[in-house]
Amino acid sequence: MYRGLHILRGKVPTSLIERRINGLRFILPSGDAAEFSSEKLIGITVFRERFDEFLAKRSADAGAELRERTKVKHASTEPHGANVLTSDGEEINARYLVGADGVNSVVAKSLGLRLPRKNLQRVGLGMESDFYVGEEGVMKATNGYPSILEIIPVEDRVAYGWMFPKSEHLCIGIAGAAAHMYPLRPAFDSFRRKMEKRIGIPLNLEKRRVHFLGADGISSRNVRDRALLVGDAAGFVDPMMGEGIAYAMKSGVHAADVIIRAAELGRYDEHYLEQYHRLCKKEFEANFAMAEWAGLRGTSFAETVLKMAASYHLASDIMAMIARGEIGYSAIPYLILKDLPREIPRFLKRHVRSRLNYSS
Ligand SMILES: Cc1cc2nc3c(=O)[nH]c(=O)nc-3n(C[C@H](O)[C@H](O)[C@H](O)COP(=O)(O)OP(=O)(O)OC[C@H]3O[C@@H](n4cnc5c(N)ncnc54)[C@H](O)[C@@H]3O)c2cc1C
Repeated sequence: MYRGLHILRGKVPTSLIERRINGLRFILPSGDAAEFSSEKLIGITVFRERFDEFLAKRSADAGAELRERTKVKHASTEPHGANVLTSDGEEINARYLVGADGVNSVVAKSLGLRLPRKNLQRVGLGMESDFYVGEEGVMKATNGYPSILEIIPVEDRVAYGWMFPKSEHLCIGIAGAAAHMYPLRPAFDSFRRKMEKRIGIPLNLEKRRVHFLGADGISSRNVRDRALLVGDAAGFVDPMMGEGIAYAMKSGVHAADVIIRAAELGRYDEHYLEQYHRLCKKEFEANFAMAEWAGLRGTSFAETVLKMAASYHLASDIMAMIARGEIGYSAIPYLILKDLPREIPRFLKRHVRSRLNYSS
């Protein structure tokens, strides 16, 4: 999403951008579609391996030492520092430690900040793959609109699927509460076949990626003396859509700000570092709460709301503002109320028109 790109402050090389995205289309269980599009850029699609490599190189250019093929096996802290033990058998000591090692964070587990995420109702699970279909295939699959992300229901499951256009590939995946996703591979293959039928293009299996999504960041402990967790390691993921890149970046920015101040004061104690958790909570909590609330209402709620919203221009503006990071979810009720007078004439016109159609 653009709000992540914005945090990066600097251009993403064009060679990394697969597609520029301007809209979202939700295919509803009834088969109808609700589309929200904007003239503004709301995001891009990328290949994660290339994009993540670009991020790692940027860190190295800024002074970080990049060690590839080196895993952290264990992490610990003591009053005067933090230590990690690597797969090479080396022990690295530092003043502080940032656990940015994803949803299965070894740092979080070693420091006792997170138990293994075993509650399958509370954890998300997803599988996705990039299918090569050529540029023509992408145009055909998207009806000539490769700048729209498509969200599609997954039959018989509390889950959703997606088709994200890339330059010559389609990224197709499914995700949902882990308890509803097993067995995952047959569910993914059945979704792939459904998509094949829909777009009329064979989708030959390539490498599938499978991941847990742990959206427990706000209620968890993410800080200890001399250590803090960011991104997926901290559980900062939208509990409805599983979106986490921009939150990972933003939590990284907050962590850096707090660590810079901590270094100036020589204070790496948990009490001081707690500021980091408070900053993330303040910024993400309302969004996550609203996403969880909407997610729990189920597909019939989404169907009603999205269908209704799609007929209002304001809804597309709101979608673009959220994706661009200009507002959070919690601002939606205020914006609707503020813009209601502007929408009323259009609403009445539509209502009268539908009544006339009905009576004729
Ligand atoms: C199927 C799926 C699709 C998704 N799609 C989207 C999307 O479209 N948009 C979006 O915003 N979010 C999406 N997400 C969520 C997004 O991928 C994550 O929220 C985001 O990648 C979190 O970034 P991170 O840096 O915290 O963790 P990660 O991206 O997981 O990075 C963690 C890094 O730590 C490394 N690492 C792990 N363990 C160790 C160790 N022991 N030692 C050393 N290094 C280690 C890993 O190799 C990796 O480089 C999706 C998630 C899934 C599962």
